Amino acid sequence: MNLMTDIIFPQRIYCICCGSVIDKTRTYGLCDKCIERMRWAVGRTCAKCGKILDDNWRHELCTDCRNVNHVFDRGFTCVQYGLYEKTVVTEYKYRLKSFIGREIAEIMFDRMEHEDLEYDIVTSVPVHSLRLKKRGFNQAALVAELFAKKSGKPYAELLVREKHTEAMKMLGVYERIENVKGAFAAKPDAGSVTKGRDILLVDDIYTTGSTADSCAAALKTSGAKKVYVLTFAAGGNLVMPEET
Ligand SMILES: [Zn+2]
Ligand SMILES: [Zn+2]
Repeated sequence: MNLMTDIIFPQRIYCICCGSVIDKTRTYGLCDKCIERMRWAVGRTCAKCGKILDDNWRHELCTDCRNVNHVFDRGFTCVQYGLYEKTVVTEYKYRLKSFIGREIAEIMFDRMEHEDLEYDIVTSVPVHSLRLKKRGFNQAALVAELFAKKSGKPYAELLVREKHTEAMKMLGVYERIENVKGAFAAKPDAGSVTKGRDILLVDDIYTTGSTADSCAAALKTSGAKKVYVLTFAAGGNLVMPEET
């Protein structure tokens, strides 16, 4: 898995979002327009999961976190999942543009510079071996490894996928929870690394938190003290009619 960091990255000459030609000095490999259009987590965020909150939302927590007790301790995200943010993830995940991983890791690193978070180890959400075969690389692991390197923290693969879960994007909230229940487990030898440690779990997208919870449960079962979650993009806060 360490070979991943040895991937040779092509020079950044195209915007990782819209594909227009940019010069190498552009931040995160994004053109000015895309930087402006993306919704960055620079304002209020949910005190639990880290989702972006609107200024007029009067609670500390998002709708979801007010109703669900998450297994993970705290989540952080960089951007809100919308059209532009989705393009970046899609280009990275499904078009196999591994160099985008470097930019995402950079964005995540800068995001966490604003947080006073202490943790010991960085890990990632594993993909099923069948999917890994199809894509050729584990995109979450690559980002996590690059992020860990920048942060000066050790990276370890601590989780395995127990069953082949359905692709999540077609599923509703409850189906998602069912789908990932028991989907992850700690590796048999993970305990020696996780015991009493605080772990930062890296993933690309946060939606309902069911994947994060399933991974956090597995890590805590193997002795982890705290599990934090860092994602590139998170869905918006679903505002219930009576809340507005
Ligand atoms: Zn662009
Ligand atoms: Zn929340």
